[in-house]
Amino acid sequence: MKEALLYENIDSDTKEVICKLCSHYCKIKNARGGICRVRFNHDGTLFSYTYGKVDGFAVDPIEKKPFYHFKPKSRVLSFGTPGCNFKCANCQNSYLSQSIKLKPEALLTQNVFPPERVVELAEKYAVDGISYTYSEPTIFFEYARDIILKCKQNNNTKHLFHVFVSNGYFSKEMFEIVKAEKLLDAINIDLKFFDDQKYLKITGGHLKPVLENIERVFDANIHMEIINLVIPGENDNEESFARVSEFVSSLSKDIPLHFSRFFPQYKMTDKSSTPYKTLLFARDIAKSFGLNYVYIGNTDLIDAENTHCPKCNYLVIQRQRYFTDVRYLDLEGKAVCPNCKETLPIIV
Ligand code: SF4
Repeated sequence: MKEALLYENIDSDTKEVICKLCSHYCKIKNARGGICRVRFNHDGTLFSYTYGKVDGFAVDPIEKKPFYHFKPKSRVLSFGTPGCNFKCANCQNSYLSQSIKLKPEALLTQNVFPPERVVELAEKYAVDGISYTYSEPTIFFEYARDIILKCKQNNNTKHLFHVFVSNGYFSKEMFEIVKAEKLLDAINIDLKFFDDQKYLKITGGHLKPVLENIERVFDANIHMEIINLVIPGENDNEESFARVSEFVSSLSKDIPLHFSRFFPQYKMTDKSSTPYKTLLFARDIAKSFGLNYVYIGNTDLIDAENTHCPKCNYLVIQRQRYFTDVRYLDLEGKAVCPNCKETLPIIV
């Protein structure tokens, strides 16, 4: 157990606390846990049960996260920990994010994998960065932060980049720490629905905090890519595609927007996979809002994952699954189209 960051005692008699790590802002009575079921109040002290309880180490291409405009072809050490602040019925990693909620005390007997060991692994596998992923990194923020700070203190690992793959439900207080300590280089945020009722029903969260966090990340000038998983019968309609696209394009037409194909899993096995024509329709809608970089993920569709220069349409990055062929010029750290010399918003 590790004492949590970002909580306050709100009643000295009952020892109730409020957790300020994510936008649920759970008020937690003594001897109880928060919605994520991995943070518990012991006599007025809030503890994280997931500190160092790692699951799923892998070395992945950055494109798998997916990040398409951040360090193309780089390799990242990826991992998550059990638990999540959402309860998505379509979760791809429910064994990791949801199972522990039934028996959180099992975490207490699991060995801690210290931050130094993660840094050693990153060094050993000579990765370019670390991706905090699989489950929601907000839930293990103390651990992620310690790893990042340890990396920055070590001459051999201080150059590594750090990225979150997030549901975007972190608190503004957590993001203040991220900004003040310059913890993250990029964030991928899942904008699941543009409908608060759907958010609540399927994830247990609300739309507004996610939108506000997307704006915060944009204002902080941290590289961001947005994913929208297209689920048949839930968000596969023109209005949803238009509202997502309109919101993203209102911030910047250069933010990469990924429409991702749904496959039936966890508690959503009654639905079929997203038809290709729906994903192509979503892309058309997004382009009609002027977005320059719209991708379709989890399909074999031709050209769905490629990046074209928005000025001359030259193919600047070819992707097929996890094969990536970079064709732009790297001119003093800037990605430049070899055909028309347009500078591209890609962090090389
Ligand atoms: S991290 Fe979020 S869900 Fe978990 S206890 Fe804190 S406020 Fe609640």
